[in-house]
Amino acid sequence: MPAQIIDGKALSDKLRVQIASRAAALKRRGKETTLAVIMAGDNPASEVYVRNKIKACGELGIRSLSYRFPETVPEVELIDLIAKLNLDPAVDGILVQLPLPRRLDEQTLLSLIRPEKDADGFHSVNAGNLFLGRPAVPACTPAGIIELIKSTGAPIEGRHAVVAGRSNIVGKPVSVLLLNENATVTICHSKTPDLKEHTRRADILVAAIGRGRFITGDMVKPGATVIDVGMNREGGKLCGDVDFESASRVAGYITPVPGGVGPMTITMLLSNTVAIAERADGI
Ligand code: NAP
Repeated sequence: MPAQIIDGKALSDKLRVQIASRAAALKRRGKETTLAVIMAGDNPASEVYVRNKIKACGELGIRSLSYRFPETVPEVELIDLIAKLNLDPAVDGILVQLPLPRRLDEQTLLSLIRPEKDADGFHSVNAGNLFLGRPAVPACTPAGIIELIKSTGAPIEGRHAVVAGRSNIVGKPVSVLLLNENATVTICHSKTPDLKEHTRRADILVAAIGRGRFITGDMVKPGATVIDVGMNREGGKLCGDVDFESASRVAGYITPVPGGVGPMTITMLLSNTVAIAERADGI
C-alpha cells in the first residue's frame, strides 16, 4: 500500500488559525504581537523568504517591522539596531534573515538578540535549553518536523528515529527534540559509513542532508514515517532529499516536497512569535 501523505500545507493552515486566534486574544488585551525582521544584502532567496514571512504575519494579525540594509552595511549599525529592538517592549520577536553578507559575523550578531526574543530559536541559550530539556524557543524547522510527525497520530515515544544530517539549524535540534519526545535517536552524517544500514532500521526517518533524491525506497523500513526536509533545485524544480516515488511505496507516512516541511517552517516562526508575546504579556 502506498504511504499516506503528510500534508504540511493543510497542517500549517490548521495551526495558523490557532495562532491567529492567540494573536487576536492578545490584541484584545491591548498587546499587538510584533516581529522585527532584519535583512542585509540582496540575496534573491532571502528576499522571497522575508516577503513570505511578512505576508504571513499580516494574514495572522501579527505586526511586522522590516529593516532592510545594503550589502555594505557596517556591522555596528546592525549591532545598534538589535540593541534597540532588544529594549523595545513593543517588539516581541527578532529575526535576522540568514545568510548575511560574508563580511558580517552571523554567530556574533545572532548571539546579541535577547534569547527571550529569538523568534528563530537559533540563539545558543535556546539551543542549550533545548539540550537540557528546559523551556526554550525551538528552532522553527525542527519544531515543524515534530508537529508533522505528531499529526500522523503514531507515537514518537519508544520508536527509533534516524536523523540524516547534523546541521545546527535542522539535524542537531530535531535530534534533541525527538530525544525529548522519548524516541531512541541515531544521528548520521557525511562520515557515517553505510547510511542505509541505519536508515533501514528507522521507524522515523528525517532526511536533512541537502542532496536531491538521495534516500531511495530500498533505504526505508517498511511502514516508516519519512520526513523530507531537503529543498534542492533540480532543473528549476524543487526536489527533496528523498526519492519520493520509490520511498512512498515502502513508507507508512511521507512528506512531499514541496508541501511538507516547507510550509511548517514559517508557521512555527509565527507560533514562536506569539508564544514570546504571550510570555511578555504574562500569559
Ligand atoms: P547543511 O548545513 O548543508 O547540512 C547537511 C548535513 O547533511 C550535514 O550534517 C552533512 O554531514 C550531512 N550529509 C551530507 N551528505 C551526507 C551523506 N551522504 N550521508 C549522510 N549525511 C550527509 O544543510 P541543512 O541546513 O541542515 O539543510 C538540509 C536540507 O534541508 C537542505 O536541502 C536545505 O535546503 C533544507 N532545509 C529546508 C528547510 C525548510 O524549511 N524546508 C529549512 C532548512 C533547511 P557533515 O556534517 O558531516 O558535513
